[in-house]
Amino acid sequence: RDSCVSDSSDSVISSGSDSDGHIYKVVLLGEHGVGKSTLARIFGGVEDTHEYEDAGNTYDRSIVVDEEEANILLYDIWEQDNSQWLKDQCMCMGDAYIIVYSVTDKSSFEKASELRIQLRRARQSENIPIILVGNKTDLVRSREVSVDAANRAEHVPSFSTEKFIETSASLHHNVCTLFEGIVRQIRLRRDSKEE
Ligand code: GDP
Ligand code: MG
Repeated sequence: RDSCVSDSSDSVISSGSDSDGHIYKVVLLGEHGVGKSTLARIFGGVEDTHEYEDAGNTYDRSIVVDEEEANILLYDIWEQDNSQWLKDQCMCMGDAYIIVYSVTDKSSFEKASELRIQLRRARQSENIPIILVGNKTDLVRSREVSVDAANRAEHVPSFSTEKFIETSASLHHNVCTLFEGIVRQIRLRRDSKEE
């Protein structure tokens, strides 16, 4: 079990505030090949350019969710190098995390669970928003991870800030919903802190 302080305050007082000018850092985590960079490029609106090296990129975009603008810096740098320093940086720099696995690769799913636990441990007293993403749903015949298995893995009642979604970056299915979801998660946490 995660060694996390369970201080989830579910009482959210909606302040109806406007964009607060803050830039939220969202970090992509997950095994190689699961689709992190593809999702990031869709978010950044640069998916058709093949000149992007996979050396690690950051995408700066503001999106409107629930009639409120959100400034997001999306970091696709998890695999930029193999240094422990970078991994540690990634674990502490994010305001929110998108942990990706491929539904066609059970080991990437297990890795995702491991990363989630590591992250909870690194940020124990914080109720950091995390979205677990099962990508590549278009590859129906190669599916190795069921929706049920993922839902079970996410069933940790004390964390109100965890969500799960399946996407297909190739088909652009649920990609917008994913990024809207992370913004909503960030706001829930922000608003509950402000009370
Ligand atoms: P990363 O290593 O996590 O950054 O993964 P990439 O974004 O580089 O994707 C790895 C490979 O999976 C590439 O060939 C992508 O085109 C492919 N890919 C990414 N998302 C999907 C998807 O939703 N469906 C399918 N069929 N392929 C995908
Ligand atoms: Mg990549």
